[in-house]
Amino acid sequence: MKVAVVGGGPIGLALALMLARENHEVHLFEKGSWPRDKACGQGLMPSGLKILEELDITFKEGEDCYSFQGVDYIDGPFNIHGILRRPGVGIERTVLSDRLVSKCRQNPLITLHEETTILGISNYPNQVELKWSNGKERFHYAFACDGLHSPLRKKLANRKVRTGEWRMGAREHFNVKPWSQNVEVYWQDGIEAYVTPVTNEKVEVAFLWFEDAISPNGPLKEALWQRFPELREKCPQKSAQGDFRGHGPFSTYAKDILKEKVFFVGDAYCFLDGITGEGLSLGLKGAQILAKNFTKWNWWHALVFRMHYFHYKAMVRLALGLSYNKRYRRLLFRLVQTAPKSFNMILRLNDF
Ligand SMILES: Cc1cc2nc3c(=O)[nH]c(=O)nc-3n(C[C@H](O)[C@H](O)[C@H](O)COP(=O)(O)OP(=O)(O)OC[C@H]3O[C@@H](n4cnc5c(N)ncnc54)[C@H](O)[C@@H]3O)c2cc1C
Repeated sequence: MKVAVVGGGPIGLALALMLARENHEVHLFEKGSWPRDKACGQGLMPSGLKILEELDITFKEGEDCYSFQGVDYIDGPFNIHGILRRPGVGIERTVLSDRLVSKCRQNPLITLHEETTILGISNYPNQVELKWSNGKERFHYAFACDGLHSPLRKKLANRKVRTGEWRMGAREHFNVKPWSQNVEVYWQDGIEAYVTPVTNEKVEVAFLWFEDAISPNGPLKEALWQRFPELREKCPQKSAQGDFRGHGPFSTYAKDILKEKVFFVGDAYCFLDGITGEGLSLGLKGAQILAKNFTKWNWWHALVFRMHYFHYKAMVRLALGLSYNKRYRRLLFRLVQTAPKSFNMILRLNDF
């Protein structure tokens, strides 16, 4: 079949490779140029890493990425450590983008349309037509991988608004040697800082916060750092790469996986929060299910697709409760300290 992928982020690129493996002719449209950067915690959980390995995407440990063994939660005197069943990797978004796009370029079934924004979409009985500034073309199906604020989701009236307060995110890199083999999460009320080693010489710090938890009088970056003096000492401003970048709010998601002849996947389908660190893995799993089944899509495939989001939604709710409520958070951390292995089990929920 002739199909279109709209959006050349990691999920769109990986999906293009998966669709080509199933012998489909793929046209991928990306409004920007590669490699793409984006505010992200840059931790790829083991399940997502495994999917990339199946696509023959590999990374050089230490140079391209950094293997982490688990996750530590740190809140003042409380410190809990969780170990994953298999390591995940911290990887800069541009490196990930570069590896995926190179693989797509080598594939004769994939045509990449760089700097081509999809501006319009029309549905026909067995086809969908996409329009860009100087062209239009019809496809059997299209896949919307156009991110958190998905323009296709808007155009096809496939939106739901998330309940609860909105969250925001930002990140910055530091030329500092990783001091831990784990991803570290520093908790404060309504805001967290995530430290992910991305090479042997570099770490990334990502912040996630409730919109009302930060009311900057001056620059946002300073307001965020003021909440984490302990971490600031480990990542001094002189070592910053100067690439502070924000993203959000995480406020809308898709009602339907399939609307007319368009499937939604990655953040275009659902991104509720980065707090569980599995946006990429969820998107990759969703892409895998679509690539294998879209030609014979039925209620069962839709159920399997949605099942991947059940535990994610539950975990996001639990974790946001921890973020907001210090008493609840410290009680849970204290409980986990008495039974440390329970945290391993929680972490491994996003590893299947
Ligand atoms: C602060 C923060 C921390 C996070 N931390 C983690 C983490 O540690 N681990 C993890 O797994 N996930 C994390 N995530 C989530 C992760 O970044 C996303 O799940 C992931 O980027 C989704 O990829 P995507 O390809 O669906 O969307 P995107 O990466 O957003 O790509 C969408 C692409 O579509 C293109 N596009 C948009 N509109 C059009 C159009 N009309 N025509 C053509 N192209 C278009 C855009 O240019 C873009 O390249 C985090 C997110 C945030 C905000």
